Amino acid sequence: MLISHWHATLDQAPLPVIDLPTTAEVVVVGAGVVGAATALWLARAGLQPLVVDRQGPAAGATGNNGGLLSAGLAENYLAATARYGQRAARELYALSLAGQRLLVELIEQEHIVCDLRLHGNLNFAIGEAQLTIAAATVSALQADGFPAALLDRDAAQEMVSIPLGAAITGARLNPAAGTLHSGKLVHGLLAAAHRSGARFSWGVTVQHIASDADRLCLHTDHGDVSAAAAVIAVNAWSGEVLPEVAPSIKLVRGQVLCTVPVEPFITCSFSANLTPTGEYGQQLPGGQVLFGGCRAVAPNHDVGAVPGEVSDEVQQALETSLARLFPTLAGIAIERRWSGPMAFTPDYLPIVINPRPGLFAVGGFSGHGMPFAAIIGRHLAEAVQTGTLPTELALLGIERATLLGE
Ligand SMILES: Cc1cc2nc3c(=O)[nH]c(=O)nc-3n(C[C@H](O)[C@H](O)[C@H](O)COP(=O)(O)OP(=O)(O)OC[C@H]3O[C@@H](n4cnc5c(N)ncnc54)[C@H](O)[C@@H]3O)c2cc1C
Repeated sequence: MLISHWHATLDQAPLPVIDLPTTAEVVVVGAGVVGAATALWLARAGLQPLVVDRQGPAAGATGNNGGLLSAGLAENYLAATARYGQRAARELYALSLAGQRLLVELIEQEHIVCDLRLHGNLNFAIGEAQLTIAAATVSALQADGFPAALLDRDAAQEMVSIPLGAAITGARLNPAAGTLHSGKLVHGLLAAAHRSGARFSWGVTVQHIASDADRLCLHTDHGDVSAAAAVIAVNAWSGEVLPEVAPSIKLVRGQVLCTVPVEPFITCSFSANLTPTGEYGQQLPGGQVLFGGCRAVAPNHDVGAVPGEVSDEVQQALETSLARLFPTLAGIAIERRWSGPMAFTPDYLPIVINPRPGLFAVGGFSGHGMPFAAIIGRHLAEAVQTGTLPTELALLGIERATLLGE
């Protein structure tokens, strides 16, 4: 069985669980980073959330991801500006930047030990054309007041103590970025929520949600739960629980490898577009190099492919791509390979909805959910208390023009 680095190295004691109760004040469905952060905000507000997951903490995208916490959007800022318009792109980028900072604050306030390192992200440019785009992206970000810097090849090389690949022409530095242990993060958020009154039931699949006058009824494979409110944070599986979002959220498999340990050579995370779907990675505190991406070489770009399995063509492309960035790593032994379920929307932004009174849902992070988890979780917890979604999330509504292809 393939197991991610985060699950293989999670040494925390399991969280206490309860049998599924028949009633709860508020239920959070999904114990990924978004559900865990939402539960923490709800618990801090004194609402004693019940968190359920069909497997357990970090079983979906979060526990199988790259562990990069980078402010920004799934798309490059120039592409995002062209797609959403400048004002919306600026607001969305600001949301992610605020979200990245809020998650760091939560980690500090709750003393969550999750290997958080805030050393920035280097997005390598491959060839002159990508360096031109990097320069324009940095200018656009700086003009809108966001931190970014353009590095030439020599300056990028100074941040890496092994030789860079010959094709690298420079890099865009995102200083508002870090790395962390995704499994320990979710465990820590849930543990903090538990200290404030959250309860957990794992191995519970929510199948359908019905409403009567003032209560929701969550039908699960372990019986029904009646609740005043619920937050659905199941990302790639959103369409299974809420059919109204099924046409807009697609499961896409993301594959990752992790090498054996090598001497420390880079402290920041890194990313690149060696293939059209992009690559990303980090050197872990133990020296291993985690590297993911290369979906472009898979049939149908791994859209709809079974998460949990890996394919030879993508894994081979990952090894080749890693060696193109850092030639001295060519042929390095691979300690572990895994994959996980990303959730893509047509415009690469998550969807937040309030389809019925008391029912809220978020999903579709398009491979870039970590910087949004804490802030969207906080807004959803507020929404549970006020009964309406705050205006800060208006750009993520399901009626937005970019989602409808207008
Ligand atoms: C390979 C890969 C690499 C990535 N790398 C990065 C990265 O480096 N940085 C970044 O920002 N983002 C990255 N992402 C994306 C990021 O991991 C996600 O956006 C984020 O983790 C989404 O969190 P979530 O809580 O919404 O969903 P998930 O973590 O997927 O959690 C959803 C949970 O819901 C549960 N569930 C599903 N259906 C039901 C049901 N019916 N009933 C009960 N429970 C249910 C699942 O078991 C799961 O635990 C990556 C994703 C993948 C797959």
